[in-house]
Amino acid sequence: MSYDNNNIFAKILRGEIPCKKIYEDEFVLSFHDISPQKKIHALVIPKGKYIDLDDFNNKASPEEIVGFFKGVSKVASKLGISINEGNGYRTLSNIGENGGQEVPHLHFHLFGGEKIGKMVE
Ligand code: AMP
Repeated sequence: MSYDNNNIFAKILRGEIPCKKIYEDEFVLSFHDISPQKKIHALVIPKGKYIDLDDFNNKASPEEIVGFFKGVSKVASKLGISINEGNGYRTLSNIGENGGQEVPHLHFHLFGGEKIGKMVE
């Protein structure tokens, strides 16, 4: 499977579709999920063209990988949901059909602002 340049997050990265931006640096863009599942529901995506976590880990440079994961923590801190600034949060990344992935550009969901509850339905 090759990367689809027309997926919705690619369009957001190109500025063709608006987003409610939370944080951006050279490695990541973070914005609020359009259909929040919890009080706080943020998404963090890498700037590079990666379909999912496995594609990212196989192809991204060490700098991109470090930059992405540090970006997740920066977003949690900025949202006030990290352990230092708040009461914690949950992060998850869906991969492929069985994982329930809808948008084929790697993204981590960050859920917080309240108790998140059962791990898997
Ligand atoms: P997943 O099922 O893991 O691929 O999650 C895709 C997520 O992207 C869902 O939670 C959607 O609500 C969210 N989403 C889809 N379109 C947009 C958009 N234009 N802006 C923000 N979030 C979006």
